[in-house]
Amino acid sequence: MSIASCVASASLVLFAVACAATEQRAADARWNYEVVVRADELVLEARIPPGGALNLSVAPAARRFVREVEDERGAPLFAVDGAWRLPRSSAPRTVRWRFAAREAARSLDDVDLAAVRGNAIVASLSAFLLHDSANWGDGSFRLAVLETAPQKFVCASPDPDDLVGELASLDGPVPCAFGEIIPIPTGMDGVVIAPLMAVRLGELAGIDDWASAAMNEVETYLGRRPVRRLLLLLAPRGTHGIGSGRTLGNGAASIYVSVGTATTDVEFERDWVLTHEMIHLALPSLPPQQEWLEEGSATYLEPLLRARAGRLAENEVWRALLDEYDQGLPEADDAGLDRTRTWGRTYYGGAIFCLLADVEIRARTRNAKSLRDVFVAVLAEEGNLTRASSIERVIEIGDRATGTNVLAELYARMGNAAEPKELGSLWRDLGVALDGDKVVFDDTAPLAFVRRELILGAR
Ligand SMILES: [Zn+2]
Repeated sequence: MSIASCVASASLVLFAVACAATEQRAADARWNYEVVVRADELVLEARIPPGGALNLSVAPAARRFVREVEDERGAPLFAVDGAWRLPRSSAPRTVRWRFAAREAARSLDDVDLAAVRGNAIVASLSAFLLHDSANWGDGSFRLAVLETAPQKFVCASPDPDDLVGELASLDGPVPCAFGEIIPIPTGMDGVVIAPLMAVRLGELAGIDDWASAAMNEVETYLGRRPVRRLLLLLAPRGTHGIGSGRTLGNGAASIYVSVGTATTDVEFERDWVLTHEMIHLALPSLPPQQEWLEEGSATYLEPLLRARAGRLAENEVWRALLDEYDQGLPEADDAGLDRTRTWGRTYYGGAIFCLLADVEIRARTRNAKSLRDVFVAVLAEEGNLTRASSIERVIEIGDRATGTNVLAELYARMGNAAEPKELGSLWRDLGVALDGDKVVFDDTAPLAFVRRELILGAR
């Protein structure tokens, strides 16, 4: 029972008593972690609710950096096969330990476990929070942080105001970073922008503008912000430009992107990477066989969203479509999008699926509906990247939202077969072509009415 529904029924005494008991149990069931952040190590404590025996451990590769595991009386816990055994108890239990963070970061150099980046250590909570993978239950945790200046700790969390999570999320990477980090002030509620390197004062506004622009593009397209809280980690890379990015939604939303330490405002303005990553936030997490839809939707929508924000000319988007999309066509040994996990088919094959879907939905509904209606409905019903969904649910919700069978038909055609064979007929139907370096349009083409609204929407 949620706190909100408890408040709503609080006028009924019996319900109020039941609510109080439920909330008490919920509080008791939560694991409370506490971390003291020091320059080279983390000093940790967990208060664990009463219950059965537990085998406490961290991500396997990080186990050897967990030290001095002991109970509340200071007695060492017995370790078997890389797990520390905590006996059953009818009372709450406390466990204390240390994590040799810098040693782990230097040795592992893996941002999914621990790695030094700039002035900070990037790590996953799963690498240093002791937990029991066989005993998640539906348990949740809260993390309290004690920072000792100049150390600062930032972490992905689903709650904009608190560091919390589901215990089950500790089965995968949940990013955090600590060290000499000075988060960048931003006007975006719930967004933490944490550069892992020193940033000059004059660059702060440029970075906030860059992140805000990308978030606004996604928010404008969908009519709402896809996540309540986002951790945006900026890792140093060379001097100029934006490097690769990665978006994670395991329990909480985070984006890790590398940024040149002398990147200019113009370079931030031209960047496409962050828009691509932020589009990922809006689609629920799909099984690996459908990574093509996750990457394809981000690849297809990124230039559209930037064009709608006035950051990219419409002709430039068409030029990119005409130039780049052949990379997504099937090669000789292709077995369809679900079964061909090459780079070209994942990014551009998936983008072709989205382009064909957008065109077909618009064609059948005379531009009344578009792929946008699919993403809006899927976000509303299935949630963002922190939730898991399936291709079947996305298709069912998307087709219902547009009143068509476009997604089901396209998936039947492309999911397990080497389709489409070519894109020439699509460009002809839309009435768009490259004449040398110039994009030319044919308004007599049968789908010219779709082409006119595809990139910028209704005008
Ligand atoms: Zn991507």
